[in-house]
Amino acid sequence: MEFIDLAAQQKRIRGEIEERIRKVLDHGQYIMGPEIAALEGELARYVGVKHAIACASGTDALLMALMARGIGPGDAVLTTPFTFIATAEVISLLGATPVYVDIDRKTYNIDPDQLDRCLSALRSGDAGLHPLPRLAGQTRLTPKAIIAVDLFGLPADYGRLGEIARQNGLFLIEDAAQSFGAELHGRKACAFGDVGCTSFFPAKPLGCYGDGGMCFCSDDSMAEIMRSIRLHGKGSHKYENIRIGINGRLDTIQATILLAKFSLFEEEVKLRQVVANRYTELLRSCRSLVTPEVPAGYQSVWAQYSVLARDEAHRDAIMKGLQAKGIPTVIYYPRPLHLQAAFAFLGYRKGDFPASEDCASRIFSLPMHPYLKEEDQQVIASMLRTLA
Ligand SMILES: *Cc1c(COP(=O)(O)O)cnc(C)c1O
Repeated sequence: MEFIDLAAQQKRIRGEIEERIRKVLDHGQYIMGPEIAALEGELARYVGVKHAIACASGTDALLMALMARGIGPGDAVLTTPFTFIATAEVISLLGATPVYVDIDRKTYNIDPDQLDRCLSALRSGDAGLHPLPRLAGQTRLTPKAIIAVDLFGLPADYGRLGEIARQNGLFLIEDAAQSFGAELHGRKACAFGDVGCTSFFPAKPLGCYGDGGMCFCSDDSMAEIMRSIRLHGKGSHKYENIRIGINGRLDTIQATILLAKFSLFEEEVKLRQVVANRYTELLRSCRSLVTPEVPAGYQSVWAQYSVLARDEAHRDAIMKGLQAKGIPTVIYYPRPLHLQAAFAFLGYRKGDFPASEDCASRIFSLPMHPYLKEEDQQVIASMLRTLA
């Protein structure tokens, strides 16, 4: 059994992908070929925003959004510690400081109440209100932006987050690396916040056959700046450089693969709902596991189907038992970012973000993809009922 079965999907469109790649080899525009604009147009329409800017990875998408807003040293960017490293890494790369805010235990996404408290702590410099980075010789940090993450494919609480961002003049970035195709009150993920950033890493809900990413926004000047940053800060032509940028382009070949895969995407999003609902149904009697909750008005795209065990030992025993039967599971994420060696310089301590720490010690993800068979899910569920 596969954790994510990319081969099942490829079987459906292998011919079309080969044909499309052949077309790119024929026209030879490997960099910024016509497939880039075609993909940007299709995905902007799907998400319901004015602009889509294809780029080299989800990490670059986040980096470009922060750079476009001019985030740098002395700036605080508030984000969740329960995410993939890239979310916070880009903040540090620009010399700004990641300031962590704990998650809501039900959704695993950033908790707006604690975000509010963190902003008060930053403004007053009172770490008694909310844990703050303990930086040597620290001058006061200025809150500039929020990066909310739609973890496992479930959008964060953008109603509240948008309100907090507006009230405090903060730039809101949606890390939608896992949530392309998800919805909140009928609007699509990547459309929330000032810029939405997604990833086309192969294992994401819409993945290519390498690295890729995209920024979404509706603001014309923001889009123009991100397009410039993507191409080494270009001005009106390639060799006029008006700002510091990056080599952040998506390959034409990856764009054409994404166009082929996107033709299946809406069907796959529906299949993901079927698979996830079936897990929840099958595991209902399994009282010692906590299955995911999707609040009213939300639709997850189920990048992962993650469950909580009672404690770490319980999780380890279940994962070992499944492994013995050839059922793969993965822990997303075993260590929250405030406890990662890479962020030790921020001076956070164990206990600063108890919800993230607790979830990291108990969570694990089950095989999840649109082509997961009902029989396989039944086997997984019956194993879980025995082991848990
Ligand atoms: C995958 C991921 C990223 C980074 O995307 P890449 O395309 O691998 O650079 C960023 N944030 C989250 C939450 C992710 O899951």
